[in-house]
Amino acid sequence: MRTSFSDLPGGAGHVRNIAEEANLLAALERTLEIVSRCDCGGERADTSCYGCLRNYGNQYCHDVLKRGYVIEFLANLLQ
Ligand SMILES: [Zn+2]
Repeated sequence: MRTSFSDLPGGAGHVRNIAEEANLLAALERTLEIVSRCDCGGERADTSCYGCLRNYGNQYCHDVLKRGYVIEFLANLLQ
């Protein structure tokens, strides 16, 4: 029986699911869409929020998690 991402804690299964189904590109494109549509940090996009990048698990780095860096990185990666 195949393991789904919901069966494993901490997202490990989610990563495995992406790799197994070769959906990494779609996941990266969806991420770019999410961070591009959010408006936190205004035009400079120099912050993040719970609507785009922040979650409970990454709260240790919320102060340096900036939406603009992710947009720039993914836009370059996916072009
Ligand atoms: Zn945001």
